[in-house]
Amino acid sequence: RAKDEGKSNYRFFEPEMNARLQKRRELERDLRKALERGDFELHYQPLITIRDQRVCGCEALLRWKHPEHGYVQPGEFISLAEETGLIAPIGEWVLRRACEEASRWPSPLTVAVNVSPAQFRSSHLVATVLSALAASGLDPNRLEIEITESVLLMNSDANLATLHALRGLGVKIAMDDFGTGYSSLAYLSNFSFDKIKIDRSFVRQIGMNRHCEAIISVIVKLGAHLAIVTVGEGVETAEQLAHLQQEGCDQAQGFLLSRPLSTSDLRLFLNNLPGLRVAA
Ligand code: C2E
Ligand code: MG
Ligand code: MG
Ligand code: MG
Repeated sequence: RAKDEGKSNYRFFEPEMNARLQKRRELERDLRKALERGDFELHYQPLITIRDQRVCGCEALLRWKHPEHGYVQPGEFISLAEETGLIAPIGEWVLRRACEEASRWPSPLTVAVNVSPAQFRSSHLVATVLSALAASGLDPNRLEIEITESVLLMNSDANLATLHALRGLGVKIAMDDFGTGYSSLAYLSNFSFDKIKIDRSFVRQIGMNRHCEAIISVIVKLGAHLAIVTVGEGVETAEQLAHLQQEGCDQAQGFLLSRPLSTSDLRLFLNNLPGLRVAA
């Protein structure tokens, strides 16, 4: 009887699982071709300094323009790229493209590049960053590498060495999605990050959840004490921005200020700012 039930359950799930596996295999096959076909694009989301509301840089965000499905979001393919090892060539392409693009921006503007766990742990990262900087001529202190807490979970001596090697190149290091991972505070005691990005899940609750507001307040104070720049991510309302400003948060990023923009839209965006609004 139990066996029968188990069997029917199995049959019930089988087609669905097959469909999912099939879809994954297709996505993997397409992902392999995407680089050589030139199907990737970087979009750029501006960051502003809150005090004077000037644009100080942009975060590069990867977009996959799939020939049949249209734009595929990173949430749908970054983990696949990680599991298949494709993140190495894709990540290298992102670094090169972002540095090249940023080298054409007004010179105070920085570019932030996301580096995923597998990419961070690969032995090539530092060499790749160095080579992307050399090829583009971008001043190293205009490049920011964003890592999440999950990057640091394993293998901490090697990770620390990588952080120091990147820092040695003059590159800035940002902790992304701060507060969502494990032992965030321990990492701050081992390495002096240049920037902490307060995760959107806290910013979203401003005005609605005192706990989130308290957490934001503490992160901003921590940043001030350690001379680490703090950024509020995912700012969508004027109220959220005003709250971050009141707390003394340094920078903001979110749809309120600008969505991620294509290269040509970013050019229009920057050209339409009064000259003074690009950070001096
Ligand atoms: P992230 O680094 O935390 O990037 C911020 C994400 O929040 C972006 O999503 C951005 O479009 C979105 N966002 C920005 N402002 C707002 C807002 O006001 N409201 C809302 N609801 N969302 C906002 P996106 O582009 O889908 O990227 C998702 C994640 O994928 C990124 O999170 C990052 O972890 C990863 N990712 C993106 N590009 C790359 C890349 O080139 N390499 C790697 N390894 N990961 C990347
Ligand atoms: Mg990021
Ligand atoms: Mg983030
Ligand atoms: Mg986030």
